[in-house]
Amino acid sequence: MTAGPPRLVVASANPAKIAELVDLLGGRYAIEPRPPELADTVEDGDTLEANALKKAREVASFSGVAALADDTGLFVDALEGRPGVHTARYAGESATSEQNVARLLAELDGLGDPAGRSAAFATVIALVEPDGTSTVAQGRVAGRIASAPRGEGGFGYDPVFVPLEGDGRTFAEMTPDEKHRYSHRARALQALLHQLAAP
Ligand code: IMP
Repeated sequence: MTAGPPRLVVASANPAKIAELVDLLGGRYAIEPRPPELADTVEDGDTLEANALKKAREVASFSGVAALADDTGLFVDALEGRPGVHTARYAGESATSEQNVARLLAELDGLGDPAGRSAAFATVIALVEPDGTSTVAQGRVAGRIASAPRGEGGFGYDPVFVPLEGDGRTFAEMTPDEKHRYSHRARALQALLHQLAAP
């Protein structure tokens, strides 16, 4: 019997994000979902790295399998880096993506400066082995916040994020492969795989 790819639990319950990670990992690992009986991690760290490591550690120690977790923030220059580590809860503790996006647009509209919409997505990815060994990598993409949501793809803030390296479309107007070409998560994962491959 030949050994299959190593097992890896993805410490996320977001199906859209899991689909992206499975796509990006391209068969390198046998991806398993987060055990449903494990309570959500309380993301109370001050940094993306602290939250990613906390999520991955909890899942790795619970499941006894290597765990991958990411934490993402949207950093808007005109808002002094907000929502930042609070990106998921920007419009409140159980806010939907639509509510978060609506709050962001309302705040930026209130500033009234169309040039002041520069922003960046940053992701930190942590891989934690069952013995506690960790590897951390990050990825970033610069862009600007569109004046209104556009597109049906992706998730979260994708309908209002226009990467600077693109052609003016939002992430939500791109195919998954187009988004992966620029995305913070794809870049963080590439950096992580690079580190894991290094001797
Ligand atoms: P989390 O770190 O994955 O929990 O994400 C934090 C927040 O950023 C959530 O509101 C997500 O919807 C949002 N987010 C994470 N990744 C992306 C992305 O690739 N595009 C758009 N929004 C994202």
